[in-house]
Amino acid sequence: MACELLTRCSFFVDHMKELPKTSDYIQKKLCFDDYTSCNRYKIYQQFGDGIIPFNLDPADTEAVKKIIQSQREKQNHEP
Ligand code: SF4
Repeated sequence: MACELLTRCSFFVDHMKELPKTSDYIQKKLCFDDYTSCNRYKIYQQFGDGIIPFNLDPADTEAVKKIIQSQREKQNHEP
């Protein structure tokens, strides 16, 4: 089963379009196989896809941590 975001994932649609071989390699390993471990997918599951930066590399765990922390802080401050 493939990731449900595959056809609209901005990482591939926008950011990786200049690197088709790299894009294919990542998609085979991640998007068509182990997508539940993808950091973009994890953010989508928790907060929706509206907050995922288009160029967020799924392997950039530090950036992902910052986004998740920021979203949690926002949620904690909502009435
Ligand atoms: S990069 Fe992640 S969120 Fe995007 S299509 Fe692949 S598995 Fe899904």
